[in-house]
Formats: sequence, C-alpha cells, structure tokens
Amino acid sequence: MNPLAIGNSQAKGQLHLDWPDGREQRLEHAELRRQCPCSQCRAFRLRGLVVQVDPRIRVVAVNAQGYGVQLVFSDGHERGIYPWAYLAGLNTDCGSGLAREDVGTSSISLTDTPLSRASPLSQGCA
Ligand SMILES: [Zn+2]
Repeated sequence: MNPLAIGNSQAKGQLHLDWPDGREQRLEHAELRRQCPCSQCRAFRLRGLVVQVDPRIRVVAVNAQGYGVQLVFSDGHERGIYPWAYLAGLNTDCGSGLAREDVGTSSISLTDTPLSRASPLSQGCA
C-alpha cells in the first residue's frame, strides 16, 4: 500500500502520510531517525544500544524510491530507506482529533502511485 501523499513539516518536525484507507499518519522526525532501518542503525539497535537523537533533528529531504522513501536527516545521515509498510507500522500521533491544519507543510507528489483518486480524508484514527 502506497500513501497518496507525503508532507514534510520542518516547523513541526513531522512527516505526514495520507494513506488510501483514509488514515493520516504523523511521524516525528526524531523518532524516524531513531528507527532508521539502514543496516548500520539496525546493527546498533540489535546490540541493545539506543541511537542518541537530538529532538531538534529534522528530515531535510524526502526522496521517493517506489517502495518507500529515503529520508535525509539534518545530521547528515541518509542511509535509511523506509519501506511503506515499515512507516505504516511505526507509532503515530493519533491523540488529537484535529486532522487538517498543515500550515507550512510542503508536499511532494509520488508519480508512481497508481491511486490518483482523491479520497475523502477521515478524521483521526478509526
Ligand atoms: Zn541509519
């Protein structure tokens, strides 16, 4: 399942995903850095170590890779390619029922997404 859209808010420090089933997902940049799926970070976590992440870290670039996205972080780390299923499984911020207030969010379009039909966005998590 590919998301319909991805938004990256530097101001909020959140990556924002719109899924075809209407789910909206917000992922903290710092959490994404902590959960980086590259072999280096994976090995680090497997040794029981915690990746030290500055909460001010930001995703500075989002590069669509077809099956997921490569995220480039402000600390220069850019090895992680996050498959869609991996992102979908990460913790989301479902606390607030306020869904659409994305001032300052820049979006990239995914040209390889077959689902171009705009679906009505449901509020929050089911
Ligand atoms: Zn990594």
